[in-house]
Amino acid sequence: MKTSGYLTPVRIVFWVVMLSMISAIAFWVDSVIRPRFPHLNTDRAGCVIQQRNVQQAVRAYAAINSLKPGDPIDWTKIIGPGNFIEKVPSCPVHGPGAYSYTTTIPPIGTLVAPCKDPAHKPSGTEDW
Ligand SMILES: [Zn+2]
Repeated sequence: MKTSGYLTPVRIVFWVVMLSMISAIAFWVDSVIRPRFPHLNTDRAGCVIQQRNVQQAVRAYAAINSLKPGDPIDWTKIIGPGNFIEKVPSCPVHGPGAYSYTTTIPPIGTLVAPCKDPAHKPSGTEDW
């Protein structure tokens, strides 16, 4: 049996066991831990941040232009280089096509660009 050099049989077995344990833990965290703690779900959180950014941008745009709920939104003045939002918002799961943009300023509490995924609906939007 070879006993010199780094890769002795014992070390090979050690690393095989270590790597399979690490991947087992990673798999366990992903499949068991993550669904139990929705706030750790970064995909949903990333989407909610996008929806909030768009909402805040529209509220700012409405305030600057003295617009009321029901007034039309010119999205070219909100999204684009040099505007409130530089880049077109993109859901981490469903991409930029996930958001349906309203054409008018919505009343307080109504999202201007909700994600099509019901699981991505932000909570506590009554005063948005
Ligand atoms: Zn989404």
